[in-house]
Amino acid sequence: MTAKVIPIRLMPANQQRSQAGRYAWWVKALSLLAFTWAFLGWLNEAWFFQFGSPLWLNRYTEEVIILLFGLWRIRAEKNAHTRKRLIILVANVTVLWWLIPWGFPFIEPYIGYLAGLPAFPSLHTPGTLTFFLVLLGVLLFGRRIICGWNCPCVAIREVVGFPFRHADHVPRSAWAWRWRHLKWIWFVLYLGAMWAMTRPADNLTSSYLGFFALVVGVPYFITFLLSPWIGNRGYCRFLCPFGATFGLLNKVGLFRIDYQADKCIQCGKCVKVCDMNIPVWQMGAANQGRVDSTECMGCGRCITACPTNSLALHDLRNLLRPGLRQDRHHLLHKADRHRPAYRRGLLASLALLVLLLAAAIYYSSQVGTIHELPARLGALCGLPSLSW
Ligand code: SF4
Ligand code: SF4
Ligand code: SF4
Repeated sequence: MTAKVIPIRLMPANQQRSQAGRYAWWVKALSLLAFTWAFLGWLNEAWFFQFGSPLWLNRYTEEVIILLFGLWRIRAEKNAHTRKRLIILVANVTVLWWLIPWGFPFIEPYIGYLAGLPAFPSLHTPGTLTFFLVLLGVLLFGRRIICGWNCPCVAIREVVGFPFRHADHVPRSAWAWRWRHLKWIWFVLYLGAMWAMTRPADNLTSSYLGFFALVVGVPYFITFLLSPWIGNRGYCRFLCPFGATFGLLNKVGLFRIDYQADKCIQCGKCVKVCDMNIPVWQMGAANQGRVDSTECMGCGRCITACPTNSLALHDLRNLLRPGLRQDRHHLLHKADRHRPAYRRGLLASLALLVLLLAAAIYYSSQVGTIHELPARLGALCGLPSLSW
């Protein structure tokens, strides 16, 4: 029987990679300016209270920047799989992290801390319905569900921080690899936050959650500005407590990268393109062909960079279709923008986001937004009004 040949109408292999190039000083300066703008937006919302619009300094300033730079990056990206990921990432962040929470911050079913006002899409907020859905998604498809395709942090660091992906900026020593354990300190603090969120709101829990927001928020933005020294994914690599949680599920869930030692020529390209500095092929070789690092974001860069097709994604789809191999050919073929199936898939994904936006508008008009919650609860309890 003849094997099915997958046509790949794409660029030559050596141009398919999402390489970390060298960039002019003004591109780096522009990136640092955009990072600073996002930081000021957060500071303004947290402390200064000077401006209200997302374009002009509030917590959604970051999402506006992601959209602007994202359009640029999508146009410039040479790797078909990464381009597809950037389109979905920027669209997800725009709708789920900006338009809905900014315009229609409806009340989400949640378990726990009332005063935290978890409202969709608090994807990182323990106790919210979406948080549990994300955990399930991570179990089935890996950390890529959030850290690869749906987090403002990965979005801004990829679309704004791309000039700092080069080896000149990314620490790749054995010591840098060990420093990844630093995030478990933040993870312990995060467990404390989870505990506080299940308690009634009082001075202790409120102070602790304020403290937690500070130790997460400040390093989140400071690592933007440290990108020239620690690379564009410094926060994800060394500090993020949410990433640590998702990473644990990465380890026990269905996601991994399969490695075929007999094909590998040990060229090291998979390691060079990995923003998380994972020793990809070495881990596969030492672990019977399994690369199941807690750090892996499932971005697929190592897979599409591998010249011998030695690497392949593995997740729920492999369980449903045992013959499936999500290797370089597969990923690039699926992302070939000349294929009608690709265009249909992309349109369906974008239509789903528009549908979610419409549902949010309808739901918030029926149930109310977080701004109306005190009055509605007051009416429910027979009280004239309640305030936080
Ligand atoms: S590690 Fe944390 S900040 Fe980075 S992409 Fe994942 S959840 Fe977002
Ligand atoms: S890129 Fe492929 S061939 Fe090269 S070291 Fe990695 S797995 Fe081996
Ligand atoms: S190991 Fe591969 S898929 Fe995982 S983060 Fe690194 S480059 Fe991305």
